[in-house]
Amino acid sequence: MLNGNVSFWYRQTGFPERRPPLDGDLATDVCVVGGGFTGLWTAYYLKQADPELDVTVVEREFAGFGASGRNAGWLSCKIAGSAGTYARKRGREAVLALQREMIHTVDEVISVARTEGIEADIVKSGYLTVAHGAAQLPRLRTAYDQLRHWGGQDLEWLSAPRLAERLRLDGALAGYHNPHCARVHPAKLVRGLADAVEARGVRILESTPVTAIAPGRVSTPFGTIRADRIVRATEGFTSGIEGERRTWLPMNSSMIVTEPLPDELWKRLGWEGQELLSDATHAYTYGQRTADGRIAIGGRGVPYKFGSRTDRAGQTSADTVRALRRILTGLFPDTAEATIDHTWSGCWPCPATGAPRSATTPPPASVSPVDTSATAWPPPTSPGGPCAICCSATPPS
Ligand SMILES: Cc1cc2nc3c(=O)[nH]c(=O)nc-3n(C[C@H](O)[C@H](O)[C@H](O)COP(=O)(O)OP(=O)(O)OC[C@H]3O[C@@H](n4cnc5c(N)ncnc54)[C@H](O)[C@@H]3O)c2cc1C
Repeated sequence: MLNGNVSFWYRQTGFPERRPPLDGDLATDVCVVGGGFTGLWTAYYLKQADPELDVTVVEREFAGFGASGRNAGWLSCKIAGSAGTYARKRGREAVLALQREMIHTVDEVISVARTEGIEADIVKSGYLTVAHGAAQLPRLRTAYDQLRHWGGQDLEWLSAPRLAERLRLDGALAGYHNPHCARVHPAKLVRGLADAVEARGVRILESTPVTAIAPGRVSTPFGTIRADRIVRATEGFTSGIEGERRTWLPMNSSMIVTEPLPDELWKRLGWEGQELLSDATHAYTYGQRTADGRIAIGGRGVPYKFGSRTDRAGQTSADTVRALRRILTGLFPDTAEATIDHTWSGCWPCPATGAPRSATTPPPASVSPVDTSATAWPPPTSPGGPCAICCSATPPS
C-alpha cells in the first residue's frame, strides 16, 4: 500500500511537469496565492469578466497539490457548515438562495469542463446517504428533513427495496438520494482547470512559496509581487503564512482506495449509477465508485493535528487506515479481503473555528512549528535515489 505521495489520483495521472517559478520582482493587477480550486476558479472568472486583467497565480508546489487534488470527488451542492446558523445571521431566504446557487454550481462546473475539454470522469448521478444500522435511521431521517427544509426539495427518500434498486448493501435500512452531485476525478479536474486558466492568459507560477502577504505586496524568496488586489486562497495551509498561524485551524481528512474490484462484486452491489455514497454514522464518511472500478472512501481519521500541523505529502497514520478499513467493510463486507492500494490525507480549514488574530499564541516548545520552508515537492532526495520521506518511488531525472 502506498501511503501519501499526495494522492492516489496523481498515481493514476502522473505528477504534472512543473511550471516555472517566479523569477524576480513582478507587478500584476491581481495576485492569487494558492493554485487549488479556490484560486483557479477565481482566476478563471476574473479573466472571463475582464480579459485585459493581468492575473497571476502563485503556488508553492504545483496547481492542484492541496485538497483540490486529493479529495473524494464529490462535486456537490451541499452547503458547508450549518444552514441554521447562516439563517440566524442572514435569514431563511438567503440560505435558500445559497442552496440554489450551489445546485447551479454543480452544473456550471460540468459545463465549463465540457467547454474547456476537461476529461475528469464526471458522472452526475447524485449522492446516496444510507442507514445501515438501527441507530442510524433516526439520524438519516433528521438529516433528510433538514435538507428538505433548507431547499432540498428534490431529495428522494428510499425505503430499503427502493435503495436496493440503486445499491445493494447488506443490512441497509433506508437511504435518501440527492440528484445534485457528480462524481469527478479531482486531480484530472483541477489540472484541467489549471490548463484552461493558463490558456486564458493567466500567469501560473509554481514552486514559489509565499512567505508573507501585506496590502499590495506578496513576498516570496524569489522576489516580491506587487498587486492592486490579492486573493489569499491557501485554505488549510494558511497557518503557514507569516501572521496567519491562527487564522484558520487546518482540519485533516484521509482516504483509502481499494484495488479494482471483481465484476461479480459489482454485479452483487448494483451501483450502476455510480452515485457518491455516505452514511449516517457519527463519523463523517464519503465515498465513490471510481471510473476504473475501485471504491475510494474517506473520513476524518485524525481531524486535527496538534499545533495546527499539516502533512504536506499527505501521509496517513496506521490507526486512520484501520479506521477507514472498518468503515469500508462495515458498508461492504465483501471487500474484507480486498487489497488497499493507497492511502492519503489532506487538509482544509475548519469553517467553524477560524480564530481572531488576538488569539494567536506561540506553539508549545515541544511541538515543531509548521514547516514553512521553501521546499518544493516531491521532497528532496539524494539525486536519482528513492524518495526518503513519503514513498519509495524514484523521482524522475
Ligand atoms: C481527503 C479530502 C476529501 C475531501 N473530499 C471533498 C469532496 O469530495 N468534495 C468537496 O467539495 N470537498 C472535499 N474536500 C474539501 C475540498 O477538497 C477543499 O475544500 C478544496 O479542495 C479546497 O480548495 P482550495 O483551493 O481552497 O485549497 P487547496 O486545494 O488546499 O489549495 C491551496 C493551495 O495553496 C497552496 N499554498 C499553500 N500555502 C502556500 C504558500 N505559502 N504559498 C503559495 N502557495 C501556497 C497549496 O500548495 C495548495 O495548492 C476534501 C478534502 C480532503 C482533504
